[in-house]
Amino acid sequence: MGILEVTGVNKRFGGLQALGDVNLNVQEGVCHAIIGPNGAGKSTLLNVLVGKLIPDSGTVTFDGQSVLGRKPHQINQMGISRVFQTPEIFADQTVLENVLIPCFAGRDGSFRMHAYESVGQETDIVTQAMEMLREVNMEKKTEMLAGSLSRGDKRRLEMAMSLVQNPRLLLLDEPTAGMARADTNNTIDLLKEIRTNRNITMCIIEHDMHVVFSLADRITVLAQGTPLVEDIPENIKGHPKVREAYLGD
Ligand code: ADP
Ligand code: MG
Repeated sequence: MGILEVTGVNKRFGGLQALGDVNLNVQEGVCHAIIGPNGAGKSTLLNVLVGKLIPDSGTVTFDGQSVLGRKPHQINQMGISRVFQTPEIFADQTVLENVLIPCFAGRDGSFRMHAYESVGQETDIVTQAMEMLREVNMEKKTEMLAGSLSRGDKRRLEMAMSLVQNPRLLLLDEPTAGMARADTNNTIDLLKEIRTNRNITMCIIEHDMHVVFSLADRITVLAQGTPLVEDIPENIKGHPKVREAYLGD
């Protein structure tokens, strides 16, 4: 049994079948990539996993418990954390303050004001946040405003905000989108370090094949809302169905 199991998931937007009978089984501890051409349904699937979209049919379970019908912050509390395509950070707050936010609240940010009032008294949480920033090599930038960081550092900060909650499953939506090669390679290294340091399962949506083949243990290829193939990276490279799906993309 996988830590994340998706069976028979369908999602329509009007006349468009964005997801058609999607089955996905993510084993604990692996990095599982979901790839596919634009419009394949990757983001839609991720939105279903985090509770932002409710599928028309099908089941989604995490660690044997149903995810469907739960609100995003409840799914977050189950141990699923998401890193967004565009980093969702608080630009006017310092790096440290950004990491403290999910320590006090959830990623939904609903108790943010309460969080600030409590800072200072909760030194163990500050220590925890500092340790987290060290893990992502941001310990020298704790007092910088998040908005002033480079794109790569913003990604590191967002990763810290997710990981400080100790998720069991980290969902990454195109973590290197729009990055220059150097930042992309930095992000790959960071994700590798995180996997070495933590017992974590990763599910990564990614367009960049260099990133996918650097990180993934298993790959599911999605095309027109339906999984085409699922296999180890070596068997995905050059797979005729995969090449066909990517033609014209
Ligand atoms: P991907 O992330 O693989 O590029 P998406 O999941 O974003 O693909 O989109 C899959 C299909 O569903 C696309 O054709 C897209 O236009 C459509 N789609 C996605 N979200 C919506 C929405 N909220 N309303 C209508 N159509 C949508
Ligand atoms: Mg997308």
